[in-house]
Amino acid sequence: MKDPLPIFSFELFPPKTAEGMRKLKDQVTRLRAVEPRYISVTYGAGGSTRAGTFETVDWLCDQGLVTAPHLTCIGATRAEVRDLLQRYREQGIQRIVALRGDLPSGMGSGAHGDFRYANELVAFIRAEHGDHFHIEVAAYPEVHPQAVSAARDLDNFVRKVEAGADAAITQYFFNADAYFSFVDNCRSRGLEIPIVPGIMPITNFTQLARFSDACGAEIPRWIRRRLEGYGDDIASLRAFGHEIVAGLCQRLLAGGAPGLHFYTMNQANSTLKLWDRLGLSTRT
Ligand code: FAD
Repeated sequence: MKDPLPIFSFELFPPKTAEGMRKLKDQVTRLRAVEPRYISVTYGAGGSTRAGTFETVDWLCDQGLVTAPHLTCIGATRAEVRDLLQRYREQGIQRIVALRGDLPSGMGSGAHGDFRYANELVAFIRAEHGDHFHIEVAAYPEVHPQAVSAARDLDNFVRKVEAGADAAITQYFFNADAYFSFVDNCRSRGLEIPIVPGIMPITNFTQLARFSDACGAEIPRWIRRRLEGYGDDIASLRAFGHEIVAGLCQRLLAGGAPGLHFYTMNQANSTLKLWDRLGLSTRT
């Protein structure tokens, strides 16, 4: 279903320390000023960030912010997921980002859990709660790293939508054509849901390279080489990164993307700089 207004949202991860939580609250105070549609909070697969996710979600809700907890199903039982959903529903939450997740190495294959893939989680949420939750799922314009092929990955994405997903957020990417091609393929399969690009600000090359290798997001060679070349010159790296990501966002919005989901990395600066540059306050 086409959303009449653009969807601009922010993603946070739960801090591991009290100091991290204090910093996060400062960052959120700045981020909320631009009135994003919602703020999502990641959840470690296997419940590894359970306490931190709850603390962050509780605090965001107390601030009156529209909050979307992520919920991963790998390694979880139906009873555990049922309890989580009940907790969130009682808290007034109406948005969930439903994911499979990846178990950290050492936690086994997840064979003991009741869910294998995210489409099963989406179906479970719909079966238990009807239309109460607005469900977002993950999409991979550059193909999920474990997928046997792009075509099978698309089939699997279709399964999540058929199971009841309302919208999707993509893995981050730096190649707008990958996004447009993916959206075209989805439309030709009859999928109408909003597919919101996930945007990763560039602030730290080592961290970006590590994440990108893990999640299968391609950093185009020329961008990688330029970023590498800045070495310790963080100011120049960030200025270049800002130009690249701002240009990407402009192209995505001009090409019809229904909004943007910013992976803030719990840092307001880079996201708000992009927000201002793109003039998003006038579009929400
Ligand atoms: P799925 O949609 O289940 O897909 C996983 C793989 O299995 C794909 O290769 C797919 O092609 C294949 N597949 C899917 N269904 C089937 C099927 N029925 N039969 C056979 N193969 C199938 N991880 C976290 O741990 N916590 C988070 O909070 C978190 N948030 C994220 C938010 C976003 C927006 C994104 C894009 C990713 C996030 N991740 C998070 C990472 C995510 O958990 C991993 O990418 C994970 O590997 C896949 O999750 P998924 O929900 O896309 O899985």
